[in-house]
Parts: sequence; C-alpha cells; structure tokens
Amino acid sequence: MHMPDPNLPPNPPPNPPGTRCLYCGGIYPLGADRCPQCQAPTHHRPRARLRQFRWFVALLALLCLILILWLPR
Ligand SMILES: [Zn+2]
Repeated sequence: MHMPDPNLPPNPPPNPPGTRCLYCGGIYPLGADRCPQCQAPTHHRPRARLRQFRWFVALLALLCLILILWLPR
C-alpha cells in the first residue's frame, strides 16, 4: 500500500480569504471588482449568465430533436 510522504504536511493549508489574482499573484477580497495590486479585472464568471446559457443549449437541442422527428427524410 502506498504511504504518504511524511515530509509533506497532512493537509494543504486552507485557502486564504479572498481570491488569488491570475496576473500578479496577489490576494484580492471576495466581491472585489478589480485586483487592488495590479488593477486587473477579476475573473469570476457570473452564475446567472452560465445558467441562462445552459437553458439556451437545452432548448436548442430540444428544437433539433423536434425537427429531426418532424421533417421528412
Ligand atoms: Zn493582480
């Protein structure tokens, strides 16, 4: 059986409060619009837009199924 490396800590340290910036590596607080260090815009995806897009794809697939069954071959 594989044993874990005793030199490694048993658990990774918990995430700091906030999000790490992709560009400069700094931490910006949750809900921030821009990184306070490098002014880069944050890379959060709005969840509502993602849900909206999922519904659009589902309806498009349903429409394709209806057309497949309905149209003559
Ligand atoms: Zn930054």
